Amino acid sequence: MLVVGAHSADFVWRAAGAIAKHTEAGGEARVVSLSYGERGESGELWKIPGQTEQNVKKHRHAEATEAAAAVGASFESLDLGDYPLNVDQAGVDRLAEFMRDYAPDVVLTHADKDPFNPDHPVAYAVVAKARLLTAGAVVEAGFRTAPPSEFLVFEPHQPDLCGFVPSVFVDITSVFEKKKQAMSAMKAQSYLQQYYAERAEHRGNHARKVTGNKEIRQAEAFQRIVPNVVTGL
Ligand SMILES: [Zn+2]
Repeated sequence: MLVVGAHSADFVWRAAGAIAKHTEAGGEARVVSLSYGERGESGELWKIPGQTEQNVKKHRHAEATEAAAAVGASFESLDLGDYPLNVDQAGVDRLAEFMRDYAPDVVLTHADKDPFNPDHPVAYAVVAKARLLTAGAVVEAGFRTAPPSEFLVFEPHQPDLCGFVPSVFVDITSVFEKKKQAMSAMKAQSYLQQYYAERAEHRGNHARKVTGNKEIRQAEAFQRIVPNVVTGL
């Protein structure tokens, strides 16, 4: 599994449960953040007098590494800068090369729209392009390729304003404590912990309604960008 966020904490709120389920089942998960969210998403750290961007990045790296470890994943950042996140072709190529080497089965990233965030849609565009450059047209190509992955976007902060319509709920009940542990590592955005714990409860309610399974307490929502292929219905 490859999870790409615009900022270093994005994966925690939106996909930590799905990551934990994946790694608990024996899968491998790597988190790549395009930036540290050092300028735009590190609120608490900027309250410290004399704070610097370098120091914020250092904190954010440590926090994200701890959060990723809590759900069995590794963390790395391309450190391309945030607010605004600008990714040139060299940046896209860097991510595509990473994808060819890693050849993930499933890729998660942001939705393509977000009226409240300048960087999340950029991340979507970069990941979508890198993924296409990784798989090519699924024919013999004049460049190195890797098989096409599943491709889903995770739930934005205000899903209805981002055109997000969930098509998959992941039951994260059994790993919810791990998600909470990952969230508590993100001290620069501690105000989001309660918000995303509540979101997981709400999505758990929706997942119960869909399935009738009363055991589901918490869930995460995703939207498929490419269809899932099954051998029968
Ligand atoms: Zn973000």
